Amino acid sequence: MDKIIIPGGESTTLCRLLNETSISKEIKKAGKQGKPIFGTCAGLITLAKKGGKKVDKANQKLLGLMDISVDRNAFGRQKKSFETNLDLSFLKKPFPGVFIRAPVITDVGKNVSILGKHQNKIIACQQHNLLATAFHPELVEDNRVYDYFLSI
Ligand code: GLN
Repeated sequence: MDKIIIPGGESTTLCRLLNETSISKEIKKAGKQGKPIFGTCAGLITLAKKGGKKVDKANQKLLGLMDISVDRNAFGRQKKSFETNLDLSFLKKPFPGVFIRAPVITDVGKNVSILGKHQNKIIACQQHNLLATAFHPELVEDNRVYDYFLSI
């Protein structure tokens, strides 16, 4: 594989399956070799180094590739899911962001660039070959976030 996308879903399940198989080792190796990896929503959580209280409570073993801290379900429960236009630093026009029980990024290390915020919370960032968004670009027709990922 040249590039990897870790999609949304449910991060406790994702982490359990990643660690029960050898996939987590392979993904960590690819990330460290500089292969582009994109995590959306639950995928973002799996890429993080620190998960905060909710991740600790669920005993989730994260991949820890990105020097970021996250907070799961930071915008509330499933019924609080929403869609909003986002200003992302690598796009000229707003992007339709779909947030479904989405996490936020609560802290970033010095190698991480912040690519976008919503309500003053970080919802997109990049650390060299690693890209993460709290929203779901796969649920809209607009391909610009994927185009950006493919350009990395
Ligand atoms: N709330 C989910 C989690 O913490 C992520 C939701 C999603 O990927 N849409 O795993």
